[in-house]
Amino acid sequence: MKKILIVDDEKSVQFLYEKVFKKEVKDGEFELIFSISGEDALEKIKNEDENAFQLIISDINMPGLSGFELLKEVKGIRPELSVFMSSAYTDTERQSLAKELGADDYITKPVDFVALKEKMLSVIAA
Ligand SMILES: [Mg+2]
Repeated sequence: MKKILIVDDEKSVQFLYEKVFKKEVKDGEFELIFSISGEDALEKIKNEDENAFQLIISDINMPGLSGFELLKEVKGIRPELSVFMSSAYTDTERQSLAKELGADDYITKPVDFVALKEKMLSVIAA
């Protein structure tokens, strides 16, 4: 089963993804796992074996470990794991920092879920 880890300190984001991808999850296209903090996400990634997750979609602005710090950590221990950053920030500074740190994509909020699904599928199919 393909697993996608969604990291966001706002619980409403979880409900949104669950709602938008209800059918895909039900049909077994992929499984969505949620973390409410960067620390929790890192713990989950470390505790699972290497190929447990195919994709991480992380918020940037979170209390504690930020999305950028999480990205750095993840690319340090799982360089092959795809990471999309997702944020309401649209400035080029953050977008280029994300790229520099190895992010595979940058998704602006509010999320265009049709476009995101295509990107998700192309990553998990690879
Ligand atoms: Mg946030």
